[in-house]
Amino acid sequence: MALTTDTHSALLYSATDIAFMHEKDLKTHPYLKKLGPDVLSQTLSWRQIAERLGDKRFSGRSLSGLYLDQSFLAGLGNYLRSEILFAAGIDPASRPKDLERARVNELAHRTLLISLRAYKTGGVTNHPDTVRVMRKAGHSKGQYRFAVFGRDKRGCYGCAGKIRRITANGRRLYLCPSCQQ
Ligand SMILES: [Zn+2]
Repeated sequence: MALTTDTHSALLYSATDIAFMHEKDLKTHPYLKKLGPDVLSQTLSWRQIAERLGDKRFSGRSLSGLYLDQSFLAGLGNYLRSEILFAAGIDPASRPKDLERARVNELAHRTLLISLRAYKTGGVTNHPDTVRVMRKAGHSKGQYRFAVFGRDKRGCYGCAGKIRRITANGRRLYLCPSCQQ
């Protein structure tokens, strides 16, 4: 393809591929989007997360999409999305702007809590009380690690209803339909 001076295009090079992009695409290119604050940053507070949830850039989007978007918060993996939204008791399809202020604050608190817990425990996000009981009963880490992730059709620790697996934004997501409304 021949480039002329008025194409308003850019060439991006990496070690393995060359992508030809128009300027309008650059703004949405995942590698060029600005990263949000790191969820494990010691200076990040729940209030800052609540502020971001209320920000126009994010408040109209579904939480299932937001919690995979590194421009919202950096460092949130796919399993944390399921675990945080379960801990906050919020339906992944809901948007921040549909939630009352108290629930947004609760979600912000849980986002920080569950992320830090995962960091400190080597990826165990289940409630500490549940973990304690299950460890005593001889369960393995694989069994007690998560509250909902990877636990489809099994009993919810909150209500004993069944955990459901869905696909949201191209990735698997686990939820309890009764606890997350
Ligand atoms: Zn439940």
